[in-house]
Amino acid sequence: MDARVFETEKKEKNMIKIPQAVDRIIQTLEEAGFEAYAVGGCVRDTLLGREPEDWDITTSARPEQVKALFRRTIDTGIQHGTVTVLLDRVGYEVTTYRVDGEYEDGRHPKSVEFTASLTEDLKRRDFTINAMAYSRKTGIVDRFNGMEDLQQGVIRCVGTAADRFTEDALRILRAVRFSAQLGFSIEEETMNAVKQIAPNLEHVSKERIQTELTKLLRSPHPERIRLVFETGMAPYVCTHFREAGGEVSAGFSGEKYVRWAALLRNLDEKGAERILKELKLDNDTISRVRTLVGWWGQPLPPEKYELRRAMSRMSGEMFDCLLDFRLAAGTDSAGETGRLKELAGEIRRDGDCISLKMLAVTGKDLIAAGVEPGKQIGELLEKMLDDVLRHPEHNTKEYLLRF
Ligand code: ATP
Ligand code: MG
Repeated sequence: MDARVFETEKKEKNMIKIPQAVDRIIQTLEEAGFEAYAVGGCVRDTLLGREPEDWDITTSARPEQVKALFRRTIDTGIQHGTVTVLLDRVGYEVTTYRVDGEYEDGRHPKSVEFTASLTEDLKRRDFTINAMAYSRKTGIVDRFNGMEDLQQGVIRCVGTAADRFTEDALRILRAVRFSAQLGFSIEEETMNAVKQIAPNLEHVSKERIQTELTKLLRSPHPERIRLVFETGMAPYVCTHFREAGGEVSAGFSGEKYVRWAALLRNLDEKGAERILKELKLDNDTISRVRTLVGWWGQPLPPEKYELRRAMSRMSGEMFDCLLDFRLAAGTDSAGETGRLKELAGEIRRDGDCISLKMLAVTGKDLIAAGVEPGKQIGELLEKMLDDVLRHPEHNTKEYLLRF
């Protein structure tokens, strides 16, 4: 659903629908004499008619007081005031109202201070659309005009943008990420501060940067990644990030590795890997990106030997993914992709050998036939595979042992 579709009815009634469990947590806290609200991203997403990823609750109760009220809790981040309450095996983060103290070089707040004021807690949040709270008792609490920005489709800092970005430079990247996820524009003062404070991104941990970039790339507007370059953030993302230049569009399927490969496809495999490693992406993603980056630009004629050869170099899943990637990148036309898929289908239906595992002989067979054990076994098997990729009918024990 388009994130811009705003549910005006709900706005008028000032009511939104929240899960029963969240309502139960809020009520339990209220009955014990505390204030409690759903807050942040979940309120924003519900107002936009999007499914929230998780539900966060903010409360005047201290962590020990929260823990005393619920049977099952986890100390998620006690020092920051966060306790996870488990209801029906789902976890809900309940965080005490807090003001974030001074930030150490735009990294973590040096200290967090609890407060009795909901407004203070909302004030520490990054953007107006992320700074609304809700409870059934009060309806939407909106101290910073988040509702209006939500309706207008605007990302705007709570308070003075340059100060907020100086406190925590990750917010610069979050501004672009939310704009890409929601299709929102970035308000002028906020945008100017993004450009001004961009160099501070250098002090933010690579993991936090990566999480935001991945969300940005997987969003409905991945082309907004170009804002990371245009605003001057790119040099501070990681050492070679500036060299990444693939245009990313929503035409690429939404998997993490596909979108990263789209961005890095102008580089070679090594160049892509270097960036992904520095940004601490997982090895599975790195290996998939390498496959796509390495193969997307290569000629892939509609010819069975060529296809079997390509298929022998990657999993079936990655091969299918590669064909879609090439189509989205404009390497192949729709007609060409159709033909390649057809041929790949035939290869699979016919059970043509496309891997060492499918070869009719094994290393053991070769040794039994008198070949010296050692690295020549592997080389021989590779040669046999290449022959069989050209001539699938050669994949029999008799033929290959005469080979
Ligand atoms: P997502 O859909 O990615 O979960 P979200 O808005 O819920 O988006 P979270 O990172 O889960 O984002 O954070 C929850 C809330 O905490 C935000 O809505 C915002 O109010 C606040 N918040 C998170 N990170 C920051 C930050 N770096 N600076 C200020 N407030 C933040
Ligand atoms: Mg969230």
